[in-house]
Amino acid sequence: MSARPKLPSLAEVIALAEQTRLDVSVVDLARMHKHSEMSAEVVDALWPDASPRVKAIYQGLTRYNDTACKKCGSTLRMVGNGRCWACHKVSTAKWRMLNLTKSTRDFAKWQAKNREYRNTYNRALRTRKQEQAA
Ligand SMILES: [Zn+2]
Repeated sequence: MSARPKLPSLAEVIALAEQTRLDVSVVDLARMHKHSEMSAEVVDALWPDASPRVKAIYQGLTRYNDTACKKCGSTLRMVGNGRCWACHKVSTAKWRMLNLTKSTRDFAKWQAKNREYRNTYNRALRTRKQEQAA
């Protein structure tokens, strides 16, 4: 996957908006550009031929819909690398299970065994924090 494309400069965006006779004020364009979150309408009007991923980047999104995944058929992909979001979640969960250290494993077991104690403890902690904040 190619490097993450950058949103063109504000001057380029304004020039492009003038060319395409886009009915959005320069102030609105500048505001959207400042936050790197162009609206979907602006992106579709200014870059009609951009790929779904590039359009998502210009909109400031982290995930977008594109062609279905070969493995699972999901269309939701990550903007960062274009990979399938569902497969990513599965593989990271698998990696985590395979790479548990003894201490994390022991702690997870302890947590499962002592759920009632943890609930009571956390409730008391929450109350104490609320009292401190007040
Ligand atoms: Zn997938």
